Amino acid sequence: MTFNRPLRLILASLLVLAGLLLSVYWAGEKARHRSLLAEAEAAHEQLGLYVSSLRTLLERYRSLPAVLALDPELRQALAGPVQGDAQRALNLKLERINAAARSSTLELLDRDGLAVAASNWRLPTSYVGHNYAFRPYFRQTIAQGTGRFYAVGVTTGIPGYFLANAVRDEAGRFLGAIVVKLEFPDLEQQWSQTPDLVLVSDTKGIVFLANHPGWRYRELQPLDTFARLELAQTRQYDRQPLTPLQHRTLQPLGEDSRLVRVGARGDETDYLWQSLSLPDDDWTLHLLRDARGVQSDVATARLAAAGAWLALVFLAMLLQQRWRIARLRQRSREELERLVEQRTADLRTAQDGLVQAAKLAALGQMSAALAHEINQPLTAQRMHLASVRLLLDAGRNDEARAALARLDELLERMAALTGHLKTFARKTPGGLRERIELGHVLEQALQLLTPRIRAEQVEISQVLSVPAWVLGDAIRLEQVLVNLLRNALDAVAGAERPRIEVTLRHEGEQWSLEIADNGPGIAGEHLGNVFDPFFTTKPVGEGLGLGLAVSYGIVHELGGRLEAANRPEGGALFRLVLPAASEET
Ligand code: ADP
Repeated sequence: MTFNRPLRLILASLLVLAGLLLSVYWAGEKARHRSLLAEAEAAHEQLGLYVSSLRTLLERYRSLPAVLALDPELRQALAGPVQGDAQRALNLKLERINAAARSSTLELLDRDGLAVAASNWRLPTSYVGHNYAFRPYFRQTIAQGTGRFYAVGVTTGIPGYFLANAVRDEAGRFLGAIVVKLEFPDLEQQWSQTPDLVLVSDTKGIVFLANHPGWRYRELQPLDTFARLELAQTRQYDRQPLTPLQHRTLQPLGEDSRLVRVGARGDETDYLWQSLSLPDDDWTLHLLRDARGVQSDVATARLAAAGAWLALVFLAMLLQQRWRIARLRQRSREELERLVEQRTADLRTAQDGLVQAAKLAALGQMSAALAHEINQPLTAQRMHLASVRLLLDAGRNDEARAALARLDELLERMAALTGHLKTFARKTPGGLRERIELGHVLEQALQLLTPRIRAEQVEISQVLSVPAWVLGDAIRLEQVLVNLLRNALDAVAGAERPRIEVTLRHEGEQWSLEIADNGPGIAGEHLGNVFDPFFTTKPVGEGLGLGLAVSYGIVHELGGRLEAANRPEGGALFRLVLPAASEET
């Protein structure tokens, strides 16, 4: 799949953006969850404190009716109808005890549930004379001996917790009940100090205590018809209207802990909702903490995540850039190497061409002498043939046979020379490495120049330590020696007694071949230029200036050197040095 550049850029930007949003969201959720758990734990601890303070309060009063039920005065009073002075005395007694115990109200019910005495007998809302048989705590007391019930007072309209205990005679017969009522305005007042919501609900899920008035008498769960009927019968919350509390759990955070959204759409608040039950009284305490306080942590985490994500993106970009640059470098290096290789190959081809051209030029210059060299034996052969014919005619067969053998010799010499010429003219690729013997190569080169040496009467002296094995290309090395010898022959052309000295000797790991002449030598200012291409001091048509340049190249390619100098006694000296090859096995 290939995209053009702008499209790829847009795609990459979208990807980065999506990653950013995702990581921010994820970090936010993670932080929120963590903060919620921590906050929930704190809230739970707080709730535990409320529970224990409520429990302590209740425990303090739970024993009061039990103790009062044993009072002989009360038991005696309930044995018969309570009226007149006896009733007044009872009222006063209850009033005293209530004040001392600091409970809300104390009342004495006879066996029919009629209040015969009460601590609030002086007030208009006195219980005395009212019947409370319909209240569940009375029925519980008849059945179990004790009863407890939270309700709104039907007489006073004030809600409270009714704790009842049965009063029995010696025989254990039920005479009535003593009831203590507790109200919790102090507790609610105390709870209202906290910004949290503290609620207490009954088994039906109705909130009857709350530190904020709006939360009282709310239904935490929908009531069925049976529950409603029971409420009507017991008049538990009497005339208080009950309204359902709209809420739904967003996220459970533990057994008694959850994140809850409360309120109708458009007016919703999220709370951390903790619940803890009070098993003795079948009540449940709730603590609702506003979940908005958790948000600041979330914002910090989101910011950190965004930062981390962007850092990651930049790192990736940096690495990609580096990788790209490295790839580009690698590519250009490869391109350069390829170019160098190609140029080297081109150069080698050009050089090979040059070597060959220089050789052919030299051959051309030697051709006249060589033609003469071949022509000479032909003339000799013609003379030999004539004498053979004469000898045969005279019947001198043995002499004729001897003459024929000399003819053979001449033919062989001619064949050798033409064969050598053919080989020498052949083009060889550079880089050839064969084991060759320098003495033999020198011999071949001298053979090509024999006609000229003979014609110009040049004395050649040779001091050779052979065999001298080297690695190289025989034809090219012969080309080098032909060049050096021809230059020497050119140099001695005007000398009185032309002479060329050839020395071949072993020097360390190398072979050194020196060609010295008694010519005029090389002018001082030219010593540095003789190996330059096209450098020549010879007249046009005689010198190209390529011989030494090409020879220099050939020798260097074989790992050797070619040097030029002047001899102290006059004349030039050329030295060819080549690494020695291992002795022939
Ligand atoms: P060419 O022989 O065609 O001039 P070379 O490259 O063979 O080209 O020689 C370059 C020059 O070096 C010659 O022109 C000559 O000036 C000088 N030279 C070479 N060999 C000798 C020598 N033996 N004595 C004096 N000068 C020489």
